[in-house]
Amino acid sequence: MYGSGIIKGMGVTLKHFVETYVEDLKLVFKGGRYNDKYMAERQGPKARGIFTVQYPEEKLPVPENFRYIPFLVFDTQKNEDKCTSCGICAKVCPPQCIWIVRTNDPKTNRPVPQPAQFTIDATICMSCGLCAEFCPFDAIKMDHDYELSTFERFTTLVFDKARLTKPDTYHAAIHPTDWARELQDAAEAARKDAEKAAAAAAKKAAAAAKAAEAAKPGGEAKPAA
Ligand code: SF4
Ligand code: SF4
Repeated sequence: MYGSGIIKGMGVTLKHFVETYVEDLKLVFKGGRYNDKYMAERQGPKARGIFTVQYPEEKLPVPENFRYIPFLVFDTQKNEDKCTSCGICAKVCPPQCIWIVRTNDPKTNRPVPQPAQFTIDATICMSCGLCAEFCPFDAIKMDHDYELSTFERFTTLVFDKARLTKPDTYHAAIHPTDWARELQDAAEAARKDAEKAAAAAAKKAAAAAKAAEAAKPGGEAKPAA
């Protein structure tokens, strides 16, 4: 129906308007006061009604899946970048704002799976998150840091590798669900590798036993021609 979207939108606004006073009245009837605890609940991501946040003194906590500019994950256990400079993120980035330079082994001049340079132009990035979605190594994630305002675009908003890199402990802190999934995947991969190694070792042992059996006098070994 023509205009149904406008009516629906107005309905949402009206709902927020009414909820604002309902929430405030609830506080009055409970004999509550406008203290920090109340405001933390009142201005959280699940708050109902209309309210004003006195930014920057007050800040709303962002949800886990909130995304702004990507960052590179540094593996603190292995003490190395997780990025292998495969270039997939740069290929899928819609506005093409990622530049990667691979590391080359100075002796052989062959590529090493580590980025020598990794640059993202934060003024072009549209925070779509496709780079993080497509990275096969969980090496790039979307950051929660949105306070990037500056007067100098080229000197501060073209992020180099050092600016983009953050430890995996930071990733675990802001994306606990994603981090738990990664740990589970790693444990599952380790279990499969151990199974494969055990199967290969058993196969090798069986072959060695068979060869030893055949080498015995009267065994299956054929005499040399
Ligand atoms: S961040 Fe991921 S997708 Fe991008 S180059 Fe590094 S490993 Fe490849
Ligand atoms: S979030 Fe989107 S636009 Fe930004 S670097 Fe990643 S793929 Fe490119």
